[in-house]
Amino acid sequence: MTKEEFCFETRLLHNQHKMDPVTGAVSVPIQHASTFHQFDVDQFGKYDYARSLNPTREALEDVIAELEGGVKGFAFASGMAAISTAFLLLSAGDHVVITDDVYGGTFRMVTEVLTRFGVEHTFVDMTDLEQVKQAIKPNTKAFYVETPSNPLLKVTDIKAISSMAKEIGALTFVDNTFLTPALQRPLELGADIVLHSATKFLSGHSDVVAGLAVVKDEDLAKRLGFLQNSFGAILGVQDAWLVLRGLKTLSVRLEHSQKSTLKIAEFLQSHPLIERVYYPGLDDHPHYQLQQDQAQGAGAVLSFELKSEAALRTFVSGVKIPVFAVSLGAVESILSYPAKMSHAAMPQAEREKRGIKNSLLRLSVGLENPDDLIKDFSQSLEQLGQNELVLQQGE
Ligand SMILES: *Cc1c(COP(=O)(O)O)cnc(C)c1O
Repeated sequence: MTKEEFCFETRLLHNQHKMDPVTGAVSVPIQHASTFHQFDVDQFGKYDYARSLNPTREALEDVIAELEGGVKGFAFASGMAAISTAFLLLSAGDHVVITDDVYGGTFRMVTEVLTRFGVEHTFVDMTDLEQVKQAIKPNTKAFYVETPSNPLLKVTDIKAISSMAKEIGALTFVDNTFLTPALQRPLELGADIVLHSATKFLSGHSDVVAGLAVVKDEDLAKRLGFLQNSFGAILGVQDAWLVLRGLKTLSVRLEHSQKSTLKIAEFLQSHPLIERVYYPGLDDHPHYQLQQDQAQGAGAVLSFELKSEAALRTFVSGVKIPVFAVSLGAVESILSYPAKMSHAAMPQAEREKRGIKNSLLRLSVGLENPDDLIKDFSQSLEQLGQNELVLQQGE
């Protein structure tokens, strides 16, 4: 049995970096050196300066490349550093077609930074392939996909977008932060570059900010490697080690959280004070079948709407277990308010156009017992119901 034949869960542990070949250490050594002695004037070794390559960061880059099924991985100082560096593959005069409920930071990069460098964009609802086709221009060089999307969990057909891109010689970028290679492998579906905020599920413990990129072919690997070294937003070695450690438990964490997410989604859906639940693991989600076809699960993030912003405020103040915070993909459940957090960089009018209401909450389900979370949400909703009753009686 070769390593390539191992199942995903096994490969998280038994990969080429399972032990240090020099000492047998079962954890990747953290190499702090910024520079490396060269033993020959003409022939430099593999490592010369740590921005270009460092053994600890390299271990993480190897591991993520292998898990995503790519030829090469790259580790960056944050998800946004990975995304921004990938965008540097484009030049002035190029055009990118991008999903309309993209991560707020990516929205900001595309609309306020890339525009200054002459890179054009068109936002489209990527779940509507006809809209995507209509957005193509003679200078379209890239398609930017996020699926399931944030925060409305819309599902984009990665295979269909990739083949559309190939037809016109454009690249397909996929932000795979929400599902990770444990559940979805975009390169196998035709994408060219996978991007990650490793701050989220990959590291999983809310204790590191990191970004990753993986590419499918050697030529693209050379171009992105050149940009990583030129722009220089590399991941530090301590942080690379934290991501490597987090990765070992990725499968078990996601499995537990995903199961809990479905249970919580069903609970919320059945509750009279909840307007709407967004989760592609629910069989009445409009893209349920596509999600089943292109991924091994629907992940551990859901969103839901309360009846009003006032109701949301009461609900949030009554909830005890989840942290109320930016971010997702951690051992502890995280309740977020997209309008004021992940999508604060998006003007209100843009948010409303995309259906991101001021009464929408996003929940990233952690490793708690889901029954405790349901009990917690129940009691907060009950309080909300009583408040409403008092208000009605006062009218
Ligand atoms: C958090 C996030 C990012 C940005 O990553 P950082 O590590 O915060 O820079 C990008 N895309 C998605 C989907 C995210 O959730």
